[in-house]
Amino acid sequence: MMTYSGRCHCGAVRFTFSAPRIEQAMRCDCSICVRKGISLSMTVIAPQDIEISTDDPGLGTYMFGTMTARHHFCRRCGIHTFVETRLNPGHYRVNLGCVDGLDALRLPEVLYDGRSME
Ligand SMILES: [Zn+2]
Repeated sequence: MMTYSGRCHCGAVRFTFSAPRIEQAMRCDCSICVRKGISLSMTVIAPQDIEISTDDPGLGTYMFGTMTARHHFCRRCGIHTFVETRLNPGHYRVNLGCVDGLDALRLPEVLYDGRSME
């Protein structure tokens, strides 16, 4: 396991998590991910493996459809930092573009068929 840290653009939302070495990125074509255009962690991170800290104005949360996935974003800079997945509420996929020291857009990508799950 590796320890990673990350943050939104302005730094109001910060997080650290443990995960296997990140060597791939997940792209999802559901109606919200296709709009965000972000690469997500392949690993779904358990609540005990992630620590989140925020400064004012903190995290916003957007939900739609079945209202189970929680799409979190920084209320100041608007960056979507992580999502609590629909299949595992309380478990997270993080926006790899927010992770320190990672060349997120150059990782091999796996396309996840989120569209057909809606
Ligand atoms: Zn921010």
